[in-house]
Amino acid sequence: MMAEVVRSVRLSPSYVRLTFAGLDGLERRGADHWCRLFFTREGQDVLALPSRTSEIGWYLQYLATPKSRRPWVRAYTIRNARPEAGEVDIDFVIHGDRDGNIGPASRFALDATPGDRVGFLDQGVGFTPHHPHDWTLLIGDETALPAIAGICSALLDSAQGVAIIDIPKASDRQPFPAPPGIEVSWIARDQSPHSDARPGSLALQALMSAKLPEGVVHAHAIGESALATGARRHLVQDREFSKRHVDFAGYWRHGRPATS
Ligand SMILES: Cc1cc2nc3c(=O)[nH]c(=O)nc-3n(C[C@H](O)[C@H](O)[C@H](O)COP(=O)(O)OP(=O)(O)OC[C@H]3O[C@@H](n4cnc5c(N)ncnc54)[C@H](O)[C@@H]3O)c2cc1C
Repeated sequence: MMAEVVRSVRLSPSYVRLTFAGLDGLERRGADHWCRLFFTREGQDVLALPSRTSEIGWYLQYLATPKSRRPWVRAYTIRNARPEAGEVDIDFVIHGDRDGNIGPASRFALDATPGDRVGFLDQGVGFTPHHPHDWTLLIGDETALPAIAGICSALLDSAQGVAIIDIPKASDRQPFPAPPGIEVSWIARDQSPHSDARPGSLALQALMSAKLPEGVVHAHAIGESALATGARRHLVQDREFSKRHVDFAGYWRHGRPATS
């Protein structure tokens, strides 16, 4: 499916929200519905989208495409979906600047104007708590804010728990609806003595020193890979939470571009 940019809004210093249209038949998959976006590389006039749409099928076809014709592929969370209009909003973190270490997806978001097109293929959800639990723990960096906001908005009103979100600047804070029993804690790196800390590292420190609720947890740790794996290790090894109760997903790796 192709999606077309219809609006671009600079939400705050680190986020650009792009609204994409043309997604007829889109079905909401869940609170942290993600999708893969395909972008043309420099020198490509045509976006060579895989024709196969199954989870493995598109990837095998992608790998079989000569490198010079492969698009860039990056995963993003759908922040808001309006299926009746075939529209979604996606909040892109703008990391780096045009002259610096910026990736193709972040650059696309920075420069996007109405009419620009991306491929939209392969979708899923990450937050799938299947066991009975007393409270929820959500922890992530700026790339996880759209997912954590979506999850909090979808939790039962009676839900209890903690959400820790590590953002570059205090002005990147985006208030979102959450049950009264979920304590949302923002960590703004520009307000800490460690403003150049790696995204997610201050959240991990905060988790390690936090007094957490009692009872069975469902924990979901997402964002920079060291945060996701570090949070899981801490919860399982130091706090002795069951592995089965702690989900984690590395969304990106510090110093390494996404692999496709
Ligand atoms: C399921 C899922 C959902 C996601 N949802 C979102 C979302 O809603 N919004 C969002 O912004 N991202 C989201 N991400 C993360 C996003 O896919 C990555 O950040 C992606 O690598 C950005 O691509 P790029 O082309 O800009 O940079 P790349 O080409 O992948 O990387 C270029 C350089 O930039 C660095 N880099 C990449 N991302 C960041 C970052 N955020 N901050 C600092 N440095 C970075 C890399 O380490 C590398 O050195 C999600 C990822 C997953 C797996």
